[in-house]
Amino acid sequence: MRLSPLGSLVAGLLMAKVPNEYHLVTFDPGGTIGWTHFVLDCRAFSRPEHKILRWIKSWDCGEFSGQEHEQLTEASRLIWQARFGDMPYNSKVDVVASALSRTDVLAEDFDLTQLVGGKNLLSPVRINSVLGWECYRWGMHLELQNRSMRTKVTKERLREFGFDSPFSRNGNWTTTSKGKDGFAAMQHAIVWLRRVKEISRSKPWKLSDGQTDNAYWDCACEEGKRCDLRHPR
Ligand SMILES: [Zn+2]
Repeated sequence: MRLSPLGSLVAGLLMAKVPNEYHLVTFDPGGTIGWTHFVLDCRAFSRPEHKILRWIKSWDCGEFSGQEHEQLTEASRLIWQARFGDMPYNSKVDVVASALSRTDVLAEDFDLTQLVGGKNLLSPVRINSVLGWECYRWGMHLELQNRSMRTKVTKERLREFGFDSPFSRNGNWTTTSKGKDGFAAMQHAIVWLRRVKEISRSKPWKLSDGQTDNAYWDCACEEGKRCDLRHPR
């Protein structure tokens, strides 16, 4: 996707310094916006046998509360930071000194399952349209994922994967109290990472920070050995 003029300018100013980093930001829009920010080494996807969990560099998860426009301000900042920063959202790092990364931004797709709810019924629609615009501004596309896709990722599975809830003292996730929207965003993140992994299985993966001049194949031939991936030369 082409960058907007402003996006191109910023991208040009922020040259990549952390190569082969993949960022994922997910949102669960609603009365409270649940969010996650994952940073992975691209090697998670460069070879079929590489496990995703092994290559997670950091992850973070939370919820935005308050007025809808306040939540959206925070969400927009998170999108920008994931796109142009190289550190998790909550860290205090000089953004200008950091990197341009490959970033996916995802939100739960709106599904009209009820007609009651008054003015807030369409809040997720409003939120997603603003997130979509924010992504467009920075040269990205907001991905939408159906609610039904996340339900297979249970609270227990998240703990097994090593993700402890930051919302509770014992690390357990909840679907009913504070932290439930963050949990939903986590479910979406896991599903999306698996989808990216699935896509990667059918492709010879090129490691790249988004700039072609220092991209390289994650292949044995890069080390002078016999080529073991099908890829163009
Ligand atoms: Zn090769």
